[in-house]
Amino acid sequence: MTVSFWICATCAVEHSEQVEVCAICADERQWVPADGQHWTTLEELAGTEVTIAEVEPGLYGIRSKPPVGIGQQSMLLTTDAGNLLWDPIGYVDDDAVRRVREHGDVVAIIASHPHMYGVQVEWSHRLGDVPVYVSEPDKEWVARQDPVIQTWSGTLTPLPGVTVLQPGGHFPGSAVVHWQNGAEGKGVILSGDTIFANPDRTSVSFMRSYPNRIPLSGAVVDRVARSLDPYNFDRLYNNFGASIPVDAKTVVRRSADRHAAWTRGDYDHLT
Ligand SMILES: [Zn+2]
Ligand SMILES: [Zn+2]
Repeated sequence: MTVSFWICATCAVEHSEQVEVCAICADERQWVPADGQHWTTLEELAGTEVTIAEVEPGLYGIRSKPPVGIGQQSMLLTTDAGNLLWDPIGYVDDDAVRRVREHGDVVAIIASHPHMYGVQVEWSHRLGDVPVYVSEPDKEWVARQDPVIQTWSGTLTPLPGVTVLQPGGHFPGSAVVHWQNGAEGKGVILSGDTIFANPDRTSVSFMRSYPNRIPLSGAVVDRVARSLDPYNFDRLYNNFGASIPVDAKTVVRRSADRHAAWTRGDYDHLT
C-alpha cells in the first residue's frame, strides 16, 4: 500500500514527509512524547469512529473516537449558502465525508491555528478540493503543501454572515469565527484556543501555550478582546467542546481585564 502522507501521532497534523520531528510539536507551545516522534497514517487509523452531533441549530461538533492527536472538536457551521468546516480533525474516512455532506456543501475549510490543521488538505480533497484558508502569518507551519491552500490576512468572509478574523495571540495568525445568526441571532464566536472557554463557563483564558502554560502579556490579551468589539455575540465555543453559553462578550472583556490585572501585579498580595 502506498502512503500518500503521514500524520503526527501527537498533534494529528498531516505531513507530506516523515521528518525527524514534527515542527509543531517541537515548538515551545506543544510537546514531543518522552519516547520520541511517532507517525501514523489514515490506513493505520482505519476504524476510528467519527461522531457528528448538533451543538445548536445549524452548528455541529465533529470528533474522533478515540481522539486522534490533540483530539479537538471540529465545527461544521451550516448556512443556506454553504458550510464551513472549522478546526478539521486529524482523521477522515468515506463515511465521515458522506455524513458531513448530508448537511450540505462545504465551501471552506479553516483552522484557527496550526495545532488545529489536522488533515485539512485530505478533508478538502475528499470534499471536492474546497479551499483551505491558512492565516498568512502562520503559513510556515503547513507541512503538507497543496494547491487547495490559500493564505489570508485581516478578515475573511467565506459565507454571508460568517466573518473570520485574526486577533493573534496564541499564534500570530490565530483566528476566530464570528457567526451572525448563531445563538438565536445573538451571535456566536468559534474561538479555537485563541480564546479558551474555561470549565467555569463564566471566564475565558488567553495563552501562548496551554499544555506548557506560557502566558501572554496584558497588552496582547487586551488587543485580542478589543478585536471583537465590532461584533455582537452572546455565546462562544472553544475547540474542545466547552462553551460560554451566555453573555460571552462581557465574559471575554472581563476575563481580559482580569488577565491584565494579574500580569500587572494587582493581585500579588494574594500569592
Ligand atoms: Zn506534531
Ligand atoms: Zn493551540
